[in-house]
Amino acid sequence: MRTPIVIGNWKLNGTRAMADRLVADIEAVRPELKDIDIGVCPPFVYIPQVVAQVAGAGLGVGAQSCAEYDTGAYTGEVSAEMIRDVGCQYVLVGHSERRTLFGETNEVVGRKTQKALAAGLTPVVCVGETLEERQAGKMNAVVGAQIEAVVAAVGIQAFERVIVAYEPVWAIGTGQTASPEQAQAMHASIRAQLAAYSPAIAESVRIQYGGSIKPGNAAILFAQPDIDGGLIGGASLTAEDFLVICRAA
Ligand code: PEP
Repeated sequence: MRTPIVIGNWKLNGTRAMADRLVADIEAVRPELKDIDIGVCPPFVYIPQVVAQVAGAGLGVGAQSCAEYDTGAYTGEVSAEMIRDVGCQYVLVGHSERRTLFGETNEVVGRKTQKALAAGLTPVVCVGETLEERQAGKMNAVVGAQIEAVVAAVGIQAFERVIVAYEPVWAIGTGQTASPEQAQAMHASIRAQLAAYSPAIAESVRIQYGGSIKPGNAAILFAQPDIDGGLIGGASLTAEDFLVICRAA
């Protein structure tokens, strides 16, 4: 049995006050949400206050990215060790916005995943195809190569501590979600790919769906057999929406 996990990715949004309110609202309802894991990924600067606020409340905190380096002259970067040091549990790796806007290749994503694991974090490895790639029928090959690069970097055994998030690029922030069938087919394909290395790990790895999940479509997506919760962008910025989605998981 895989425990579903719902993670809110706040992206470049929020203030100290907003973070405070949002987390307080989630915490208030957390005891009712049994049998799922919940996490939030605030912008870096708000992480310490959120970590302090959630202490012992059953809410995980993550960063939205980490450096592929440990230390040194990399202005503006934050290492996985630092993220762990301030009390995070998760880190998103290879979000499509990082891949497309900040040039993160499959190899960079592999190295970041390795750094996250070495620091004791749970990496949430994001994969997904563009609309053009889907229309050309290349989605399985594209996502397969993204997964393969991570397996090459960290080895299949490390997937005991990896979460995968399938996020079709065309569904992120667009209001156009993948159909439950499209999402399920890709999740099954990712699981089959991992099963070729280790059936046991493929069975246990959690694969979240992400891309315009809203209160109205969460339940049907989460009902698919290979979807183990969601990575939520826009709808994670209001407690009301985020909590409806958490309940659906
Ligand atoms: C995301 O950024 O990971 C995401 C899924 O965004 P949204 O829910 O807004 O599509």
